[in-house]
Amino acid sequence: MAELVLRSARVVTPGGTRAASVTVADGVITAVLPYDAPVPDGARLQDLGDDVLLPGLVDTHVHVNDPGRTEWEGFWSATRAAAAGGITTLIDMPLNSLPPTTTVDHLHTKRRVASGQAHIDVGFWGGALPGNVKDLRPLHEAGVFGFKAFLSPSGVDEFPPLDEEQLARSLAEIAAFDGLLIVHAEDPHRLAAAPRQGGPKYADFLASRPRDAEDTAVAHLVARAGQLGARVHVLHLSSCDALPLIAAARAEGVRVTAETCPHYLTLTAEEVPDGACEFKCCPPIREAANQDLLWQALGDGTIDCVVTDHSPCTADLKTGDFATAWGGISGLQLSLPAVWTEARGRGYGLEDVVRWMSTRTAGLAGLDARKGAVAPGRDADFAVLAPDAAFTVDPAALQHRNHVTAYAGRTLYGVVKSTWLRGERVFHGGEFTEPKGRLLTRSP
Ligand SMILES: [Zn+2]
Repeated sequence: MAELVLRSARVVTPGGTRAASVTVADGVITAVLPYDAPVPDGARLQDLGDDVLLPGLVDTHVHVNDPGRTEWEGFWSATRAAAAGGITTLIDMPLNSLPPTTTVDHLHTKRRVASGQAHIDVGFWGGALPGNVKDLRPLHEAGVFGFKAFLSPSGVDEFPPLDEEQLARSLAEIAAFDGLLIVHAEDPHRLAAAPRQGGPKYADFLASRPRDAEDTAVAHLVARAGQLGARVHVLHLSSCDALPLIAAARAEGVRVTAETCPHYLTLTAEEVPDGACEFKCCPPIREAANQDLLWQALGDGTIDCVVTDHSPCTADLKTGDFATAWGGISGLQLSLPAVWTEARGRGYGLEDVVRWMSTRTAGLAGLDARKGAVAPGRDADFAVLAPDAAFTVDPAALQHRNHVTAYAGRTLYGVVKSTWLRGERVFHGGEFTEPKGRLLTRSP
């Protein structure tokens, strides 16, 4: 018995964009019917007119930082920003909160803090640290979606990187239960060998995080994954030179996927003003020519998906010196319009954006039975978008706890009119309902 019908002239479905009526019961999509299908008795019709109905985005790379660094962000503010940006599911990274999500006890702490604060659905990645191999299987069984590891320093002392031997040991354990390892791939030796000069010049910072640090780390990772038959995912890929490595490994049967981020796709090194540390992230935003190749790789499928890597901090940690400023860009509320603006200019459609930011990210997390498409049986999670409406980014209008943004003053296309979670409108016209998000666990 349908309770709700969402009708739009443009619904993005796995079979293409078309006029349709989407019926919902118990928070789940029951059918995608022709546009003028009769509204079932007792169902409420929501006519979206010319606005586009998309599946809610699934952002698998978010640093919520709660508890412990809640002044940087928190579940309340992060999930409101996400809802305002058309995101209906996020998966929280295991680091920058205190404690990090590296034991089952710590996972329980995180879940306790998140519960009642989540405006959208929230899941958790676990962390793979030197010395916590014994915790990986219990975390997997407790429902984390996979494990994050660093190969170079993470930026916080409580989350140290894995060396080669520790990586092999963690990866072997994760492969034993067919889990997923997601990796910040920059090689520490290449980083140590790169020119290092602090200060406000972006060119100096860029030189300190060269492409070959990424390329070397990716090469080691895919080689190790191939040996062990393990499933690995390259986080926030920025170096275009690593793309052939990933494509070749995949062609040889290595189970590797890769993501990139809105800032690598929409901002370029050439335009970063000196001293503008709101643009600092690791790996860094690179040159325009590099960006063109990232887009090409999205187009040909070498890069699977686009996620925010939302990693905020307080404004005082984003001042003047690129060497010491916190590395991270806040993107939750702006990722859809930022990516859409650039995508439409490059000839891509909303179907492509949905594939990169919802369908494939849901698949990465194993959530594809529940999330990531407007299709029967999936949760009735939607973003309603006015794709041709433009707005200028006003930092003060962001729901992020800290209003530091690399997108200030940019004009972007794509206004999120409303966001729906399991058939309930949780964001509309700048207003939010009380938190209705659930805490998700990996499907067994
Ligand atoms: Zn990150």
